[in-house]
Amino acid sequence: MVDRVMCYRSPTTVADVDEIADWLEARVDADVTVRDRFLEEHRTDGLADRFAAARVTSPYDRDTGNTMLGTIRYEERALENPDREGGVLYDGVQMQRALNAALPAAERGLETLHLPIIDRAIGTWGDHDGRWHKRVTVLGQPALLSVPGLYEAPAKPESYYKEKQRHALLSGDTPPREVLENQVEGEFLIADDPRTTAALKGYALQAYHYLETGEAFCERDGCRLFNAHYHEDLVEAQLREPSFCSRHGRQYGLENEV
Ligand SMILES: [Zn+2]
Repeated sequence: MVDRVMCYRSPTTVADVDEIADWLEARVDADVTVRDRFLEEHRTDGLADRFAAARVTSPYDRDTGNTMLGTIRYEERALENPDREGGVLYDGVQMQRALNAALPAAERGLETLHLPIIDRAIGTWGDHDGRWHKRVTVLGQPALLSVPGLYEAPAKPESYYKEKQRHALLSGDTPPREVLENQVEGEFLIADDPRTTAALKGYALQAYHYLETGEAFCERDGCRLFNAHYHEDLVEAQLREPSFCSRHGRQYGLENEV
């Protein structure tokens, strides 16, 4: 059903989208191509307003949006200058709708999967617990893949938070990366992690898998299609062998892959 996949570069992040596309193309029955930043390639009037409306204003408030003129101006500048945004959480579903509306009509069908790798944090509302949750992906068309989400959405090992708190009490700021990496037991990815590209590959495949089969995630931890809620599970699923569970290994594994 999916004939082609358009991946979009993310120049403000360390993600190597060309490498992700090559990995994907070797595993799926579709042409995979790479384009520049999504917001460079596709733009509609009103996108800044829609982004402003998608801003999460409180972790516990389902209503989003700050459409004050200053915010819209900020969003306009952020569309032009990708370096400007940061620290804002957006409703991933609203952002997905906004980007879908920006796609050219001829490319909106489900035989072309658009896969923007983005440098913004996205979340979805949890009806069960009444708060926003950061996400790595929002599946669908386009499928959003958030690089900050990779670092921030899954929970880190408990000792990470303890170390952070301890450091804050002692010095009033956040500990540097080396301190966290040396003091915290268990594995996790932090901003600009050198394993970013490798970890994103499985999420790109999840986007394809969803459109192709209607199946969102794999329930077997350790499979690249697993939806990890903890960093340790993410590392296990995306960065360790075997790459897939046996079922998805038959579907997506390469011949010499474990
Ligand atoms: Zn699987």
